[in-house]
Amino acid sequence: MRLFHVAAVDTPTGSRVGGAPPADVDLTCPACDGPTEYVLTLGPDVLGPTVDDRVLSLLACEAFDCRWDGPEGADRSVLVVDHPDAGRVDGPGPEDGFEGRALVADPPTDLDPDPNSDQSKVGGAPGYLQPWGHAVGPERTDAGLTFLAQWSEVSYRRDMDGAYPFMFGTVYLFAGVHANGQVDLGTARGFWQNA
Ligand SMILES: [Zn+2]
Repeated sequence: MRLFHVAAVDTPTGSRVGGAPPADVDLTCPACDGPTEYVLTLGPDVLGPTVDDRVLSLLACEAFDCRWDGPEGADRSVLVVDHPDAGRVDGPGPEDGFEGRALVADPPTDLDPDPNSDQSKVGGAPGYLQPWGHAVGPERTDAGLTFLAQWSEVSYRRDMDGAYPFMFGTVYLFAGVHANGQVDLGTARGFWQNA
């Protein structure tokens, strides 16, 4: 388990949040064909080894009804895209989005935070999962996916301004992991909750 945090400075590649989207990612929502907002990218520097050093980007449909229902048709699912890391496009981020910052991970530890902790982390067990609504974690693990990471919007720093894409909520990510420890980001799925 590793906690990860928003840094004071930005980075063009690697794990990052806010700012301009990755250069090689289609920002069209597959559910409604409308635009999505770029949220963050997680790469091997935070996730650990991934197949082909790919990274995972999280997008949120700009249409709130679609963002709520999710592009998978499952309640409150998020759109996750795995891709090679070509860095950010030139230009600004979403109009009301957060400025770009790097994401940095603490050293790994065997100590998982309290299950009620809503800190952003990789590995361990999902934290702060709410018993109501459509918590699809068990469905993900039944499908052979492993809890990969959670992104909590409490991680945005106090000196950052922006509209919270998930209503100050938490995004839970699941993915397949190969026997050699590499995460297969092509299998990644996610959902979000706000409590
Ligand atoms: Zn949509």
